[in-house]
Amino acid sequence: MNFTLHLTENCNLACKYCPNPKSEKRMSEKVVYAACDLAFSKGNIGGLCFFGGEPLLEKELIYKAIDRCNELAEKTGKKTGFRMTTNGTLLDGEFIDRAKKCGMVIGISFDGITQDKTRVFRDGSGTLAAVEKNAKMLLASMPNSYAMMTVAPSSVGSYFESVRYLYSLGFRRIIATIAYGPLVHWTDEDMEVLRAELEKLAEFYSDILVHSKRRFYFSPFDAKINDCIKDKNTADHCHLGFRQMPVDTDGKIYPCTQFIGDEDWYIGNVFDGLDVNRQLDISRRQSTPEECRECGLNKRCTNSCGCMNRLETGDENKVSPLTCTYERMLIEISDRIAEDLCENHYEEFVKHFGR
Ligand code: SF4
Ligand code: SF4
Repeated sequence: MNFTLHLTENCNLACKYCPNPKSEKRMSEKVVYAACDLAFSKGNIGGLCFFGGEPLLEKELIYKAIDRCNELAEKTGKKTGFRMTTNGTLLDGEFIDRAKKCGMVIGISFDGITQDKTRVFRDGSGTLAAVEKNAKMLLASMPNSYAMMTVAPSSVGSYFESVRYLYSLGFRRIIATIAYGPLVHWTDEDMEVLRAELEKLAEFYSDILVHSKRRFYFSPFDAKINDCIKDKNTADHCHLGFRQMPVDTDGKIYPCTQFIGDEDWYIGNVFDGLDVNRQLDISRRQSTPEECRECGLNKRCTNSCGCMNRLETGDENKVSPLTCTYERMLIEISDRIAEDLCENHYEEFVKHFGR
């Protein structure tokens, strides 16, 4: 089984769009070990993702979890795997060496050239210089690390330049999403700027696919094109309660990060295990939102992401106008990119998407 460990509710940053409340609460060693044991109790893999707050505030806990999982993997013959999402400011050489050794996959939350506007230390100073330095160190040792970019209304005008900048630093996997939640307000003008930036990015992305030998993954376009080719139902991507379950600092398990603390969505804890009946009950709650049932795009859009819907509308089954507009935009532009590549650069298209 795979768990996402929320090692701490604390963070050394105060990002402008961050919806997570901060506190001094941290996971105990006892909870960490019980989570490792539970991860290995079923299935062929015991996988952990380290998350926060900022997980690198708890490096020693991460080392302990890795050691425990490696021991369990040896004992049971099962596979283990590690991931981490970090703000990048506390990365150091020692951690990178240990992460590399255990095959951890690291994603740095990095907004690009607007980083100093959106992602700041608690005293308000910018994090760009620190994160750039650490990202270079990480990529030199683990080139498959990826950047996780959040595009907010205040930074949307630099979206294209920020992706170019991250690419120039060496990132070949960029996961970009727009900022959602109560602290973010997108106006119609912002959405027009977003469209213009995505159009520039479409050209940039196509150009790299055609001319670069190394694979470049840019999630907004790659995901839409890949899903369409593989005839995947994007709306099914959300597997609340089954695929990657978050564990809070007390060891309680929920189906998704957005539901942490809501007893209605509690599905077990690391000491007593998962409550299968509650998991099944929650999986039955997922459905295509009412307003999307007749829409021709409903299998290609993330309308059923309960986590995002709840953040935006307060209801996991209600899509916000922002999501709807953004999804339509992405599908339209991604389809155009795919058609153009197919028509004019078929070989490169197959090379990139045919695997
Ligand atoms: S680094 Fe993450 S948890 Fe910390 S303030 Fe920024 S978005 Fe929130
Ligand atoms: S495009 Fe809008 S209406 Fe259509 S499925 Fe997506 S969110 Fe629903």
